[in-house]
Amino acid sequence: MIGPPGCGKGTQSVRIAGHYGIEHVSSGDLLRRHVAERTTIGRTVEQCMQRGDLVPDHIVMDILRKPVEAASRRGGYVLDGFPRTVAQAEAAYRVAEPLGAAVRIALYLKAGRAELIRRLLARGAQTGRTDDTEQVISHRLDVFDEAAGPLLAYYTHRETLITIDGDQPVSHVTEAAIRRLDQARQQLGMPDISLAGTGGTQRTHQATISATTPARAAYAALSTRRHTDPGRH
Ligand code: ADP
Repeated sequence: MIGPPGCGKGTQSVRIAGHYGIEHVSSGDLLRRHVAERTTIGRTVEQCMQRGDLVPDHIVMDILRKPVEAASRRGGYVLDGFPRTVAQAEAAYRVAEPLGAAVRIALYLKAGRAELIRRLLARGAQTGRTDDTEQVISHRLDVFDEAAGPLLAYYTHRETLITIDGDQPVSHVTEAAIRRLDQARQQLGMPDISLAGTGGTQRTHQATISATTPARAAYAALSTRRHTDPGRH
């Protein structure tokens, strides 16, 4: 799931994961939990997050590994907030492609800047989230815009990119996303998971095939790159 801050990707990831009977894993939520619990990682990433800058790749990989492995054992997941850059996407592709398990569909949730700022300021006022302040919001949107062009081009050229208008009401966005995901999956000849919501065992099995391997490969790739190619990024 790709989208700018405030586009609703957290909300939609939860809803889409619920529809397919798989789990929602959010890199931002996991990072915030480390900050709240004052772990070693939390102390390191706190300043990056408060500035609205990206956290270094190897840290993101470290915090995602266990939750995603656990989610994959339980039947799959929607990954929200990763990959955020072409470097993260390429790392995933390098490991997953030879295994025939590369990411095949990316979902981009698009929304206008004025609407994003409005939503994030409202969220900041309600929740006190420290990166939802005017100056940091503006920087986060710039950071997203800078990475988004190459990241979206990457998925457009290499895989299937679905773009959904995130300015619609929440349930319309979810319906549009699921419709387009089902269509794309059919076009790509991916296993049918139209049984979602019926509780069948087939659903769990198929959701695992479709949703777990690319992300698992992503942190494996980042882990490998960190140990073998430390100076590259
Ligand atoms: P948003 O997309 O609304 O900014 P998130 O909760 O997804 O909110 O992310 C909040 C912050 O967490 C980001 O500004 C960044 O500092 C960090 N972060 C989350 N995911 C990643 C990632 N894949 N790579 C680097 N930093 C990340």
